[in-house]
Amino acid sequence: MKNRSREFGLLTVAILSISGCASPDNSVKARAVTDYFLPPKSMEAQVGTASNSKGSAGTVEGRLNDENNTVLMDTAQARVISNELTGNFVLPLRAWKVKGKNGEVVHEYKPTFSFSNNFPMARGVPLFRMEQGKPVITVVSLPENLVSKGPSKPGSINDSPWYSVKIGVLDSAKKSQTVTIEITPALGEPHRYNPWICRNKGKDWQLIQNTEVLHYLDSKKGEVWSKTSLTQVGSRVRFDLTLSPGQQVHIAAQPPHSPRDIRNWVQRLCDKYDFAHQLYLPQSDETNQLAPMPGILVSKDKVLGRPTVVIVGGQHPPEVTGRIGLEHFSEAFFGPSAQGKKFRERFNVVIIPMLNERGMLDGHWRHNRGGIDSNRDWGTKQKGFNFPETNSTRELLLALKKEGATFVSFIDLHSTYGLKGYTPDVQGDQGEFIQTFMKEINKQLPELGNWKLVKLGTDKYETIGALWASRVLNAPSIVLEYGDDTSAAKLKSFSETAAKIFMTQLQSKAP
Ligand SMILES: [Zn+2]
Repeated sequence: MKNRSREFGLLTVAILSISGCASPDNSVKARAVTDYFLPPKSMEAQVGTASNSKGSAGTVEGRLNDENNTVLMDTAQARVISNELTGNFVLPLRAWKVKGKNGEVVHEYKPTFSFSNNFPMARGVPLFRMEQGKPVITVVSLPENLVSKGPSKPGSINDSPWYSVKIGVLDSAKKSQTVTIEITPALGEPHRYNPWICRNKGKDWQLIQNTEVLHYLDSKKGEVWSKTSLTQVGSRVRFDLTLSPGQQVHIAAQPPHSPRDIRNWVQRLCDKYDFAHQLYLPQSDETNQLAPMPGILVSKDKVLGRPTVVIVGGQHPPEVTGRIGLEHFSEAFFGPSAQGKKFRERFNVVIIPMLNERGMLDGHWRHNRGGIDSNRDWGTKQKGFNFPETNSTRELLLALKKEGATFVSFIDLHSTYGLKGYTPDVQGDQGEFIQTFMKEINKQLPELGNWKLVKLGTDKYETIGALWASRVLNAPSIVLEYGDDTSAAKLKSFSETAAKIFMTQLQSKAP
């Protein structure tokens, strides 16, 4: 363990109360920047109790659990209709009986399957039906809210339907069962993430191979399905699964990389390296279950006034490959290589890997707990920074600036349909730095194909983190997007090479 007792200069910054959503001007108290390095006393207990809270799916689940409700599927939308026994959808979750006039049982249903969406990062509600004698469980993924309540981005939610559920066969079933699993995003959103399965409690994940995708409805043939695992081509995906009595499997849009994994990663690096200082930033949490937002300051001898690289991530809950890429990319700055050592003599790195923990825990498609896109909360003169996550990041970076830090780059890691980089459309040193970086990546990693750089106009995207950093920190800024399906091996090799290129480019500039 390293020595945490070293003191350094006082600097006061204003921060928001953890629970509030007040504007940045309503600062309620001030504290020293050194406080960002202090863990709260009860942190261990808080980490241990973080769990999936009831989001919108939980509300629906509660209604589904009412014995008198029947569930109807209407194309790609789920509707709950109370007290009507119509249609052929029933719940697999509990036994129910229909009684006649004299109280006699005229129909009895005993469940065969178990279903759970009550764990961290879960999302999806089940609908059950028999189709030509075969059981079918449809998992409907409902978004956390339909329209962003953000200050700057009204409109429909992003098309990234996340799902993560556990399905099993009850012991009482006595023999193996084959069931068709269908996964359907609500609201007619396209199927995007091909399903992964884990059969051994979170250890090993495999992409499910035998999937079919529903392409369209034909007036004569009905549903037209085909064997394919391409994304963006249909509204539902389905596959058959055979489970033995007592067996339960976990099915998810991506192998989950959870807030706990991220916290462990931060802790491990800060325990291992003397130059890695753990940061504790305020974040929103109505449940008071979450520890502060974790961060790392890489700074040899805790000198604050160096040229500083900022790496942020975890803004959008389903973007797992972006979070794993962030870890690989960041680790290059901790390495024992001669380049790493030299880099740390001159530069600091601030890493804030999880800007939307609550959204991740609740299995959100896009938004934070307040129903807004975290990457549209980075503010302009008039508005923005409504949430403690973005606001405390801003406060920390501005506090470092006061200590003499300059910002040599701001990198925000995400995932999308393919490898991409988004950068503010700026000229001069900032634009040149990013262009050179991308050119070198394409030269050194030709197997990735031509990694595309897309320019973001300042009008429509002014409240995203990269534009704020470009504008306020004068930092060359980029949103790095990994592919949803970038393999684990490529995530690692690509990130390590990109980080080396990045370090070399910074080091080649005169001090
Ligand atoms: Zn994103």
